[in-house]
Amino acid sequence: MPVYKAPLRDMRFILDEVFDAAGIWASLPALAEHVDRDTVDAILEEAAKFNENVVFPLNRSGDEEGAKFDNGVVTTPAGFKDAFAQYGEGGWIGLGADPRWGGQGMPKMVTVMTEEIIFGANPSFALYPLLGIGAALAMSQHGSDELNDRYLPKIYSGEWAGTMCLTEPHAGTDLGIIKTRALPQADGSYRITGTKIFITGGEHDLADNIIHLVLAKLPDAPAGSKGISLFLVPKFLVNEDGSVGARNAVAAGSIEHKMGIKASATCVMNFDDAQGWLVGEINEGLAAMFVMMNYERLSMGLQGLGASEVAYQNAVAYARDRIQGRSATGVKVPQKAADPIIVHPDVRRMLLSVRAHVEAGRCFAMYVSKYLDLSKYSDDAAVKTAAADRVALMTPVAKAFLTDRAFDACVDAQQVFGGHGYIREWGMEQLVRDTRIAQIYEGTNGIQALDLVGRKLVRNKGAYVREYLDEVRALVAAT
Ligand SMILES: Cc1cc2nc3c(=O)[nH]c(=O)nc-3n(C[C@H](O)[C@H](O)[C@H](O)COP(=O)(O)OP(=O)(O)OC[C@H]3O[C@@H](n4cnc5c(N)ncnc54)[C@H](O)[C@@H]3O)c2cc1C
Repeated sequence: MPVYKAPLRDMRFILDEVFDAAGIWASLPALAEHVDRDTVDAILEEAAKFNENVVFPLNRSGDEEGAKFDNGVVTTPAGFKDAFAQYGEGGWIGLGADPRWGGQGMPKMVTVMTEEIIFGANPSFALYPLLGIGAALAMSQHGSDELNDRYLPKIYSGEWAGTMCLTEPHAGTDLGIIKTRALPQADGSYRITGTKIFITGGEHDLADNIIHLVLAKLPDAPAGSKGISLFLVPKFLVNEDGSVGARNAVAAGSIEHKMGIKASATCVMNFDDAQGWLVGEINEGLAAMFVMMNYERLSMGLQGLGASEVAYQNAVAYARDRIQGRSATGVKVPQKAADPIIVHPDVRRMLLSVRAHVEAGRCFAMYVSKYLDLSKYSDDAAVKTAAADRVALMTPVAKAFLTDRAFDACVDAQQVFGGHGYIREWGMEQLVRDTRIAQIYEGTNGIQALDLVGRKLVRNKGAYVREYLDEVRALVAAT
């Protein structure tokens, strides 16, 4: 059976030795009062405990059981409901959220680690809270106060969950051609009609309500991506007093049978004149949704990173234990019939390339997080802008690079197990299956490359990349 221990020692090393995180937090007035190393250490310890003891044990059983669909109702595997409730009650969903809506206001430099841990422990489970966090983030930046006050506290507490509904049967990468329609109503709401596919957590039994963020077009919208608006469509309408009311006209038509992340319900969602509310401005839905997508693109990188860590931990333990052949440089363990396979250069090559990816990838994710925090919390306008530029440049890299290398890492780790890596019992084949999706969703990695080269490298006459290279040169000069 695979094992997982949250890599707290490495995380602390990166925080303290590589980034001087405490210094950064102390320098930002918005964080200085409530974020310090002791608090963050306590959060990391608790995250490790919860994910190792509650979430990780559901990873294998969740894969075996899978999410089940019956006549519009989706049931998650045994244990998921209880774990999700504990996750919400523990404040984990709102860890990085604004305290105004019940969040704890922790910076990304903290949640980047707790996200890696939950993805390492159980990627299918991790997706349920993650989608709610992403939806809430887009709402908090583009939604009205009224909508946000009504919905966000319940999402952050885990009482309600969230989704993002972009993809349609004929429109995945090219969202400009979506067909879902939104008809304005006299009371200011909209009627949403259309079919969305591949919706993660579109229906499930973990929360009392599911808040869908849906891309749709008004009847007179301009063609293409300039005519897309964003709507909030709850599974259950919400009464004036905030309680859950009548069922809205949105339902799951089926769930997909997938290669991996089988415990995550991937749903066909039918909106049939469902009542919805505009989030942000008409025809500016894609920009609003990109808030959520950018957040989740880094998260997909963290899915890859979490998987790579599990891959390494298990492969190195196996390589120390499994004995085959003798070391090329002479017998290492004469009292045994053969040496452990970790003595063989090819096995070491695989282990070290996984480890190099994990250690460098974790630093890279923290680097992007640092700039996300500076762009959000700095009170110096120039620092804020420069940080936002760096995030824009690095987001497609973080998504594609971390997930491509993660898949390679999982395959390498599987290879270390020889034939046993192909057998379910050892957990490596699940790791490979579960990690593959991260290269595909949230914009395929090919689309990330187009974003980097076609948009980010050329924006402002190459300023983004010039500023980055200046930073690299300064670092090289200083070391
Ligand atoms: C398990 C799972 C969960 C998902 N969860 C969600 C979710 O919660 N919400 C949601 O809205 N969607 C979700 N998706 C959808 C996912 O984001 C899309 O599948 C993905 O963005 C690709 O779209 P597509 O499948 O339509 O492929 P297509 O857009 O048809 O692309 C097919 C291939 O063509 C390439 N391609 C397309 N256009 C171009 C171009 N202009 N230039 C170069 N290459 C191009 C792509 O890179 C890809 O390799 C999920 C998908 C899966 C499988």
